[in-house]
Amino acid sequence: MRPIRVRIDSAALRHNLDAARRRAPRSRICAVVKANAYGHGLARAARALAAADGLALIELEAALELRRLGERRPILLLQGFFSPDELEPIAAHGLTAVVHDAEQLAILERARPPKKIAVVAKLNTGMNRLGFPAEDLRGVLERLRNCPGAGAIALMTHFADADGKRGVRWQLERFEAASAGVDLPKSLANSAALLRYPEAHKDWVRPGIMLYGCSPFPDESAEKLGLKPAMTLTSELIAVKELRPGDCVGYGCTFTADARMRVGVVACGYADGYPRHAPTGTPILVAGKRTRTLGRVAMDMLFADVSGISGAEVGSAVTLWGEGLSADEVAASAGTVSYELLCAISQRVPVSEAP
Ligand SMILES: *Cc1c(COP(=O)(O)O)cnc(C)c1O
Repeated sequence: MRPIRVRIDSAALRHNLDAARRRAPRSRICAVVKANAYGHGLARAARALAAADGLALIELEAALELRRLGERRPILLLQGFFSPDELEPIAAHGLTAVVHDAEQLAILERARPPKKIAVVAKLNTGMNRLGFPAEDLRGVLERLRNCPGAGAIALMTHFADADGKRGVRWQLERFEAASAGVDLPKSLANSAALLRYPEAHKDWVRPGIMLYGCSPFPDESAEKLGLKPAMTLTSELIAVKELRPGDCVGYGCTFTADARMRVGVVACGYADGYPRHAPTGTPILVAGKRTRTLGRVAMDMLFADVSGISGAEVGSAVTLWGEGLSADEVAASAGTVSYELLCAISQRVPVSEAP
């Protein structure tokens, strides 16, 4: 069997949820478990995050799977429904649906679901992705209150730059102006806003990435934020090559040795979810020592510089990211964010679970 494994650490998930709780002590926590819990496994993550007050995701099938597994907490569908026929299962299984535009609202108004559906009216306050124009809130609420299929109502918006320079104030002001005097539960904060902007916490916070132990910020590490990586991707060296000056490695010969060196071949490639764009120099651990990748990532293999690692041999342990090497660092080197790495882990990688 290929030696690649992904290990999911439930204790780390619990630890990170506690960290979220300490940062937002007065809010309820809706743990975001979309995209198979950012690659960590939906059922496993829901179990480890048992202390969260609710769950949020995008995929109706996954929400129904959680109900089949006995999940009783509120489950929020972050994009609501995509067609009228989804309203029946949403109502029957007590899911909460975002309503973000006029078409969805019209579908809901025409529907006669078996039970009233709890809804979250989503306002666009500057992200310009989903949501009613904030200034339309009164009209939307009026229609939801008169809608026979709609039950409890809450409000939400989503921040465009809580992790960046613009911050949240500009959107928060629009949200507050639009919802002044509206006494409904409110949810605004993703991980970045939860960690940096207490004024945005409100009734429900919606952390995702921080629960998985990665940082939402380009300029602050997960470790500094007190988070622990929940996913560790490991493999082994399956070959070691001695290079002489002028020898190159891998497709396209993008790396050429300028001195004698040793190169380890790692059983991990882009078909496992490792980013093909990670260039020479991306950090990697071999036999517990930090080194760099070399050359181009192939479908099933990549290269590590093991020149300075005397014990490195076939069978030596490799950590691609996780404990000992943050996915944030690997992502930054590959020009992406840890979110993309975590949810890209492919089906063929066997998963093990640490309690
Ligand atoms: C994904 C998502 C979140 C979680 O964001 P993180 O940056 O992972 O904390 C929160 N709210 C909405 C609407 C989302 O789509």
